[in-house]
Amino acid sequence: MSSLVNHLVELTRFRDRDQADVLLMETLAGLMHPRRLALHRCVGDGPEARWLTRAHVHGAPAQEGRRPEFEQLPLLDSQPDWRDCLQAQQPVALPGPPPRLLVPLLAGCEGTGVVEMETAQPLSAEDQGTVAAIVGLYGNFLALLDYGQRDALTGLLNRKTFDDCFMHALPGQAHAVGAQDPRASRAVQRHWLAVLDIDHFKGINDRFGHLIGDEVLLLLARLMRTVLRYDDRLFRFGGEEFVLLLAAPQESDVDSVLERLRQQIERFEFPQVGQVTVSIGFSDVRPADIPAAAFDRADRALYHAKTSGRNRVVGPAVLAAQGVAELPMRTGEVDLF
Ligand code: GH3
Ligand code: MG
Ligand code: MG
Repeated sequence: MSSLVNHLVELTRFRDRDQADVLLMETLAGLMHPRRLALHRCVGDGPEARWLTRAHVHGAPAQEGRRPEFEQLPLLDSQPDWRDCLQAQQPVALPGPPPRLLVPLLAGCEGTGVVEMETAQPLSAEDQGTVAAIVGLYGNFLALLDYGQRDALTGLLNRKTFDDCFMHALPGQAHAVGAQDPRASRAVQRHWLAVLDIDHFKGINDRFGHLIGDEVLLLLARLMRTVLRYDDRLFRFGGEEFVLLLAAPQESDVDSVLERLRQQIERFEFPQVGQVTVSIGFSDVRPADIPAAAFDRADRALYHAKTSGRNRVVGPAVLAAQGVAELPMRTGEVDLF
């Protein structure tokens, strides 16, 4: 019992979801000694939603090597057992063989995934109840995290969460929380920070009112989520300013993703308002960067996008071509006082 409580204390200590997911798996594995255990998360929206297996215990990790492309992930309907469990929001014991227990992971009222546990013998009713209770507690914990970390209007991460996420994105910041941690394979990726700001948003508020302005923010956030990768981090930074943390090998890759985003926003017909455009500035994230340093560089690129006509993407190559000098480098060491 005390070891269970210790596990739960450990589980709810982390603010990082990947790390917490791994600990959930370790807690359940330590208690039930399953033959196989996995957490399948639901990513994407509506009919395009897919399964991403985040953490595994026993058997091969799902994401060895490169991160899977969103399109390569299995659609929700391709796993009807998991889908039905998620939709019914109830644990299901499948007799097998092999016997499996499926438990929905609910963050508040929202189904976000399914824990799948395969055991040598069917679990007793009491053990099933214990697994369901731990997953339920974990879901409540995730809902609390969401409440503190997400913006109420758009559901994007909020500004106060940015610094933590940024530290994880720093080059060489692999956190050894288990061999199957998907970030282990991601540590070699380069990271980029983009600042996106709506053009003439004040005019939209003035002409159509704040409520319609808010709807534009909400729709824009949704559009960003669908165009960008499921594991890119999106933040609402201020009123109509958004920050994106992206992983990509080269500047040209980031440039084309952001250009695609800019074009999709430009083409979208916002109800009543019609066309809305955005300006985007971006920079690479460097070793020893503090969040403000990378943000300043991207913000400077954004300023350039605004002053050179708006509705455009500006990155380091464009700035260099225009002869805009680099800001003096700000690092943690220099700026601590
Ligand atoms: P620019 O193209 O230079 O970015 O011009 P802009 O009008 O977008 O920029 P400015 O910074 O002058 O105005 C931002 C406006 O965003 C001002 C404020 O009324 C509005 N705003 C800030 N937060 C919110 C919000 O939560 N909801 C709504 N509807 N409007 C907001
Ligand atoms: Mg603006
Ligand atoms: Mg602004």
